[in-house]
Amino acid sequence: MYNTISSLTFDNSFTRELPADNETANYRRQVAGACYSRVKPASVAAPKLIAYSKEAATLLDLSEAACKTDEFTQVFVGNKLLSGMDSYSSCYGGHQFGTWAGQLGDGRAINLGEIVNSKSERWTLQLKGAGPTPYSRNADGLAVLRSSVREFLCSEAMFHLGIPTTRALSVIATGEMVERDMFYDGHPKEEQGAVVCRLAPSFTRFGNFEIFAFRNDIATLKKLLDYTIKTDFPHLVEESLYLNQSSCKIYIKWFEDVCRRTADMVVEWMRVGFVHGVMNSDNMSILGLTIDYGPYGWIENYDPNWTPNTTDAKGRRYCFGNQPEIAQWNLVQLANAIYPLIEDVDSLKNALALYSTHFKEKWQNMMASKLGFRTFEPQTDKTLISSLFNILSLVETDMTLFFRKLALVDFKSDDFINQDIILKYFIDVYYIPSQLTNSYLEQIENWLKHYAKRLSKDNTPHQARCLQMDSRNPKYILRNYLAQLAIDKAEQGDFSLIHKLLDLLRNPYSEQPDKEEFAQKRPDWARNRAGCSMLSCSS
Ligand code: AMP
Ligand code: MG
Repeated sequence: MYNTISSLTFDNSFTRELPADNETANYRRQVAGACYSRVKPASVAAPKLIAYSKEAATLLDLSEAACKTDEFTQVFVGNKLLSGMDSYSSCYGGHQFGTWAGQLGDGRAINLGEIVNSKSERWTLQLKGAGPTPYSRNADGLAVLRSSVREFLCSEAMFHLGIPTTRALSVIATGEMVERDMFYDGHPKEEQGAVVCRLAPSFTRFGNFEIFAFRNDIATLKKLLDYTIKTDFPHLVEESLYLNQSSCKIYIKWFEDVCRRTADMVVEWMRVGFVHGVMNSDNMSILGLTIDYGPYGWIENYDPNWTPNTTDAKGRRYCFGNQPEIAQWNLVQLANAIYPLIEDVDSLKNALALYSTHFKEKWQNMMASKLGFRTFEPQTDKTLISSLFNILSLVETDMTLFFRKLALVDFKSDDFINQDIILKYFIDVYYIPSQLTNSYLEQIENWLKHYAKRLSKDNTPHQARCLQMDSRNPKYILRNYLAQLAIDKAEQGDFSLIHKLLDLLRNPYSEQPDKEEFAQKRPDWARNRAGCSMLSCSS
């Protein structure tokens, strides 16, 4: 049974159960003793639906027909509140680039309310870019078309890749202009504004806890944690009733759960070459969802030092290879934040150690599956994997294409491998053919021979290995330049490439013979173009 927009019903547990800011006027301020401030989205002049996700709509039991109505556009741009909505922005702090930044909060996010769908799943609806809130600090609360399209497409692409993420229901142009100085170099430009409607069971971040610990507001900290466990981690409550555990033990179990989910998420990023770009603790979801798509990017040529974020270009704190460690650093901040409720350093330290062991185990299994092995065999596979990454970084090698091509090679025996075969299968994965020196070719030949030997131990039939690898190594990802091409067109009023990419990325692991053009490595014109190779935080 489908809902219509006006028959959507809300069950707003966050605002019902947590302390609110008493002030309801919308001006920028420090908000103490409250988890959120009530605020209404701003109205906009001429909203126009750019795209919706039919899969995300089903989470609200909405049909495609409902998404095409004018009411949908009016509601999800923020022009109309439905009865039962209770809109608010949440208060959080965070560590940005390793430094405590104080109160941040939903500066341009407004939650509309929560829906419990026909499968009894709870989904919070949140508009991003719908105007200023008490947490907007010195910014405008708005979002531009380019960053909204990037968030919309990537959220849904990640979902179809099977990676934990917040979802995107819609992206709607506001018909109003927004001023942005994209490279912070004194050249502001007017850009088109847009609003994304995001969905998640909860948008709570590490920073939502950090702010109360920082302010020594332990009572509110406890309220938020008890609410979070009850609402988003009900399995822990059931367990504790059964085992009659103290709340302190449940808090530790909760933290262990967050550690595990965070590790799972980052392993998945490493699998597909996703680089978040701003892993500040306010951008870390307690559910282990990828959240806040800003200057993210996708690894093209394998380079663990690559960061898409221009603000991060010097320090490379958030580069691809650092992500596992940075996630743990953020977990340490969360551990510090909840410490006053636990006062047991050892348990928190053990949970953090669990992050490392859990990450390692998951990462090894993930790599084994990418390579088509039945299981990870430490004796052989540790060296095999580290030498592979070394070889991939010797010359510019497209990571995504490499793994797809590797699946194609039928390694009948190790004398099957020679340099002609390598060039036949892999030539398209290299960005700079002149880098393919004899010495390089010898190294990859050598590696492939070791790999062939390893495969022969498993003795998996070629077809079966190919299928297994293709189900773990995507063919289609939201390459940085593809997103930019879709944005270029959208800025001219043509949304067709957004729709095409949304459709393509529904089946990232399948061969789509009529869409080969989207599986090509980045063209050379995009190597240094803004939006394709480097992104600013300005959005
Ligand atoms: P980010 O690192 O992009 O996730 O954002 C960090 C903080 O800045 C968050 O509190 C955001 O809500 C806030 N912020 C970012 N852009 C804007 C904007 N245009 N208006 C208001 N607040 C913003
Ligand atoms: Mg953020």
